[in-house]
Amino acid sequence: MQLFNELKTLGQKHIKADKKANERVPSGLWIACPKCHQSLYHKDLGIFQVCPNCEYGFRITARERVAWLVDDFEELDADMKTTDPLNFPDYDKKLEKSRKNTGLNDSILTGIAKIQAEEFALGIMDPNFIMGSMGTVTGEKITRLFEYALEKRLPVVLFTASGGARMQEGILSLMQMAKISAAVKQHSKAGLFYITVLTDPTTGGVTASFAMQGDIILSEPRALIGFAGKRVIEQTIHQKVPNNLQDAETVLERGFIDAIVQRKDLKQKLEWLLGSHTKGGLVDG
Ligand SMILES: [Zn+2]
Repeated sequence: MQLFNELKTLGQKHIKADKKANERVPSGLWIACPKCHQSLYHKDLGIFQVCPNCEYGFRITARERVAWLVDDFEELDADMKTTDPLNFPDYDKKLEKSRKNTGLNDSILTGIAKIQAEEFALGIMDPNFIMGSMGTVTGEKITRLFEYALEKRLPVVLFTASGGARMQEGILSLMQMAKISAAVKQHSKAGLFYITVLTDPTTGGVTASFAMQGDIILSEPRALIGFAGKRVIEQTIHQKVPNNLQDAETVLERGFIDAIVQRKDLKQKLEWLLGSHTKGGLVDG
């Protein structure tokens, strides 16, 4: 069974930093923060699209994120597309809409990035592409990213945002968890460094595999992090669970993640972590 089309082996596009940041939200718009419910004027969110009241990071596209996150970016596997392996009803329409909304062919953007002198393999999941769900192409692109990083001896930084495995690709989606985990292991065995940054929302099979396999696990403030949804947990254990159970802050308190980092500090923090772990020995900071 053919699982995906590939027009070029390594379809590469070059994106200059800061080109498309802040383009998606139309001007003159009031919005409510989904976490603290404060009404906000879109310009108050700034380039990072963050609530000034509670620091919640709004769900941005992968291309918006890469524009302010790195100094240079060379995209990999840009043209890889799923072939709808199960002929799932209306899947093609959903894919088409998501492609239009995100400028991606599937739910992750991958490539080789630079922050100052630090070069690394970068993957950014896009919550606007069918809820950042993990299909066969998502899994294949992440696996290839780790294999490329292993060959070039580069660290990997992966931003996760996902509703979990993609039901339209059934068991083929679930298989990606094991496939990516094996690639992560090979990368780790070679002594290479892997950072995950959990963004809102990181759930399901992504949480149950590569999101939690980083050597360092960071999160954005107030991101929802969990496996099953709150309602499913309550129905399963027949108990009410606290509203903040799956907030990044609670998850940090319980020791599942290492730190919460605001968007405005991410670039600098990543540069410091990459510099500290890839050259041996800590640097100032
Ligand atoms: Zn807020």
